Amino acid sequence: KSGYIALVGRPNVGKSTLLNRILGQKISITCKKPQTTRHQILGIRTEGEVQSIWVDTPGMHLAQGTRDKAINRYMNDAASQALRDVDVVIFLIDRTKWTEEDDLVLKRLEFVKCPVILAINKVDWLEDKKSLLPFIEAVSQKRNFDQIIPISAKQGDQVEALMQEAEQRL
Ligand code: GDP
Ligand code: MG
Repeated sequence: KSGYIALVGRPNVGKSTLLNRILGQKISITCKKPQTTRHQILGIRTEGEVQSIWVDTPGMHLAQGTRDKAINRYMNDAASQALRDVDVVIFLIDRTKWTEEDDLVLKRLEFVKCPVILAINKVDWLEDKKSLLPFIEAVSQKRNFDQIIPISAKQGDQVEALMQEAEQRL
């Protein structure tokens, strides 16, 4: 079993931290340059029978000040197109807040038919885990996510569970 997993999210939510943890020493290849016009391969993870190819999607990194322009043309955008040919999307957000940029990423995912897993990162910041419940409730209204998983990329909490959720959908 093998397939493409796209990791998307606004800057600073913890994508690099999560990838480092996921791919860690298991990186087979990494390449800074795009392999195709559609995806940048960040790494390949092989676990038993499952091979997952982790990709970054060009155009998901929106510079400040270009947002409105980006909104207007998002439907034609390569990013939205590229996301159509991945097998699973992991949408990473920061538990402390949902921002306008998160809305923009969500909009990009509107036409994505493959499973979309929402990963709520940085839960190690929480003193009281119960305070996460209203946040989960709020974000679960945003889209019918296939799964919502609170994680800590930094400490590794639930990262294994997230990978399993993604890989079982390949
Ligand atoms: P990216 O821009 O999405 O790639 O985000 P980074 O991986 O660069 O992380 C942005 C900042 O958030 C860095 O200072 C990370 O150390 C921090 N960070 C990432 N994941 C976690 C986490 O699970 N918990 C905490 N407390 N900080 C995190
Ligand atoms: Mg990064």
